[in-house]
Amino acid sequence: MNSDPDCIFCKIVKGDIPSEKLLEDSASLAFMDIGPVAPGHALLIPRNHFSTVDEMDPETAGQVLANLPRLVSAIKGATECEGVNVLQNNGSVAGQLVGHVHFHIIPRNTRDRFEFNWPADKYQEGQIGLLAGKIRGLL
Ligand code: AMP
Ligand code: ZN
Repeated sequence: MNSDPDCIFCKIVKGDIPSEKLLEDSASLAFMDIGPVAPGHALLIPRNHFSTVDEMDPETAGQVLANLPRLVSAIKGATECEGVNVLQNNGSVAGQLVGHVHFHIIPRNTRDRFEFNWPADKYQEGQIGLLAGKIRGLL
């Protein structure tokens, strides 16, 4: 078990601080977010401490994310929301406040107060292929 004594989500995993749990298995835990962007906002986390998603081993990532469909389905059913965002922030620049990997499950409804700034841009000629090649080379 990889645990960080200073990590608030590791403390939740250990039961040292309370949480409103939704599901748990040998690799994962899901619980209600205490600062909900919308009612029913939940977090799915690995039990082991990983700071960012790229640190996770594929097996653990698979075990944790295997819970996503039924968790989203239950949250949709319980909140009767119209849609759901699954969000996962890595690094403070990306909005990560808690340094233990977590997937936000956020119920969405028409005219809710949650907003995205999604500044879709265009690639210059040839730029998309160059960058894709660089990424493929690192996979
Ligand atoms: P992020 O900005 O992606 O790191 O999100 C961290 C999330 O953790 C926020 O939505 C917080 O409301 C939530 N959070 C922080 N502490 C707790 C806690 N003790 N129990 C449940 N959720 C928490
Ligand atoms: Zn942790």
